[in-house]
Amino acid sequence: MRVDDVTFPEALALLRQFVASRAPHYVVTPNPEFVMLAQRDAAFRAALNGATLAIPDGGGLLLAARLWGRPFREQVRGTDLVYRLARVGAAEGQRWFLLGAAPGVAEAAGRRLMARYPGLQVVGTFGGSPHPADDDAAHAAIQAAAPVDVLLVAYGAPGQELWMARNVPTLGVPVVMGIGGVLDFISGRVRRAPRWVRDLGLEWLFRLLVQPRRWRRQLALPRFALQALLATPRERARLRATRGDIRRSPAAPRESPDRAGWGVAGENR
Ligand code: UDP
Repeated sequence: MRVDDVTFPEALALLRQFVASRAPHYVVTPNPEFVMLAQRDAAFRAALNGATLAIPDGGGLLLAARLWGRPFREQVRGTDLVYRLARVGAAEGQRWFLLGAAPGVAEAAGRRLMARYPGLQVVGTFGGSPHPADDDAAHAAIQAAAPVDVLLVAYGAPGQELWMARNVPTLGVPVVMGIGGVLDFISGRVRRAPRWVRDLGLEWLFRLLVQPRRWRRQLALPRFALQALLATPRERARLRATRGDIRRSPAAPRESPDRAGWGVAGENR
């Protein structure tokens, strides 16, 4: 799978460019859980690689990349990107639609966003589900609010990525982003780790304490760490051999100014 070496200003510039283009784009937020799942789930892997932009979200990915001698320049967390995009969106009067999350959560998140970022228009919300049988209902709800500039999809991984891969081409929305539990944070329903905890790289521990049901999926973290360590000699050699090439990779969309590939477990994309 591929993770793009973008900074916040670059990611925001790309998103503005995507909105202006009106062509469909979707954004994914890889972390170690995504990587481990993508190794055994080909459809999820394809959905991730089909994204126009894959931001370096998970801290574990940044650690591994540093270990492998190809560090990312900045950690771009999905939650922070949503807040920063909201500021840009407010200045531009963007129209946002919020999809997914538990009943009432998207509405509460929408109200909070509009209060905090005057000028931003949250033009609709819809619960639905990531199940393909519910795609038509979600399409209808989004069409009813058209035009939509930014659609946030909060179904959690891998459902939201599969949803985007299936639906984005025909939605008529230029920026669609899979955001997992971000609406839970924005609505205030789930507390986000304080900044100092995030800066220590311990957001995963905080989330585990706040939402203990996540323990099973977080088993991916030690497995990812071990795999990244074991893969270090191979990845260092591979990344050295491909230095310079990756930026010209045909998989890279033309809009992205500065991207680096990041191979995982033998995949070279
Ligand atoms: N969710 C949903 N429908 C589903 C499954 C999940 O709306 O069928 C929502 C859930 O309410 C939550 C988000 O998807 O707001 C996923 O949250 P989680 O913390 O699991 O996300 P991640 O860890 O993937 O960021």
